[in-house]
Amino acid sequence: MTPQTLGLYIHIPFCASKCSYCDFYSCAGKETKMQEYQDALLAHIEESIPQMQQYFIDTVYIGGGTPSYYGAEFLCEIIQTIKSTGRLLRDAEITVEMNPDSMMLGDLRMLLKEGVTRISMGVQSANNDLLKLIGRRHTYAQAFKAYTTARQAGFKNISVDLMYGLPNQTKEDWADTLSKIIRWKPDHISCYGLKLEEGTPMYEVYHDTPVIPDDDTQADMYTYASELLERFGYKRYEISNFSHRGFESQHNLRYWKMEDYMGFGPGAHSCVDNLRYSYVRDLQQYINGVTKGGTIVDEYEKISGLEVANEYLMLRMRTAEGISGEEYSKQFRADFGPLEEKLKFFETKGWTQLENGRWSFTTPGFLVSNILINELLDVQAAQNAIGVPYLQEILDQREREELPLSDEELFLQAMRGF
Ligand code: SF4
Repeated sequence: MTPQTLGLYIHIPFCASKCSYCDFYSCAGKETKMQEYQDALLAHIEESIPQMQQYFIDTVYIGGGTPSYYGAEFLCEIIQTIKSTGRLLRDAEITVEMNPDSMMLGDLRMLLKEGVTRISMGVQSANNDLLKLIGRRHTYAQAFKAYTTARQAGFKNISVDLMYGLPNQTKEDWADTLSKIIRWKPDHISCYGLKLEEGTPMYEVYHDTPVIPDDDTQADMYTYASELLERFGYKRYEISNFSHRGFESQHNLRYWKMEDYMGFGPGAHSCVDNLRYSYVRDLQQYINGVTKGGTIVDEYEKISGLEVANEYLMLRMRTAEGISGEEYSKQFRADFGPLEEKLKFFETKGWTQLENGRWSFTTPGFLVSNILINELLDVQAAQNAIGVPYLQEILDQREREELPLSDEELFLQAMRGF
């Protein structure tokens, strides 16, 4: 039997300072803890080697936090430890997240030599005022310089992260950011809408204020980005991710395809053989747990059949590849008919499309994907509730969000208003 493949996620919980929108687990001002963390992290990877033996590792993602701030020497040690498992494939995708203010030529060369194949850079905006407002430590010019340095070091696969829906950001400003970044010719671009997360400084200041672009403006920004990027050869392969052909993030595709991955570090998640677990979001507790034998597992659950089917819908419908009836019936031994009926109804609204036997969202569909996916989950749950009265009762009582109007309906409504 061919061994399965596995992805590794390594969390580096250090940043030079905290951006005001960020709720990832990372600490600023904890540099003195880096060596202690590194020792614990390497020990944790080493003690997990037996669990990796049934796999080949084909993707490694070192994220954070700010791995580039952690430094190339530590990162190379991590990669060497992963190599020592004997399971890392020679052509594995190895990504390192970086911020423009900590991308030095020497470090980049060292990482390339160690086998890093891909860089994911946090750029966010080309507008210096916005960058400052959201607490980024770099200007647009510094980001461009860092990008050219990475190319000079020899990186052939660079991704750039951008954000839209920032405070007072206009559509023109977003268009300007996109056109500037497209001129760089990165291989991959991610566009994330700002989400105000409770507990972040930005939430305190901007929650429920008109300073944040409203839903319609954000929808326009997303649609504009999708169309512009497609025009420049960036294919949308997931709701927020666009790439030139062959430059899709293999590691992230693993999450959306529900393939196994193992995470290391505080707050890191793993999913192996339908067993899902995460580690504590606390640097010191993680270090103590690994080095002194305490508990580091925070949450732990075996995913049941229905949950796997739910995740299939939730994750796969985020991708351009979407879902297929054949795959669904084979994997879950369930009738795809009721779901297909709903997908066909969505098609009449312009939200879904059927191509080569696979259903996926169109751009208007992606814009309301949360609501549509909930509808699909309800259909699936209703199927499972047949013959289980208490489940049926729960479903009947559940509050439902109303379906939005399709573009055509909105147009007709506007015409009637004239
Ligand atoms: S650099 Fe990244 S991880 Fe660090 S605070 Fe900013 S957004 Fe969060």
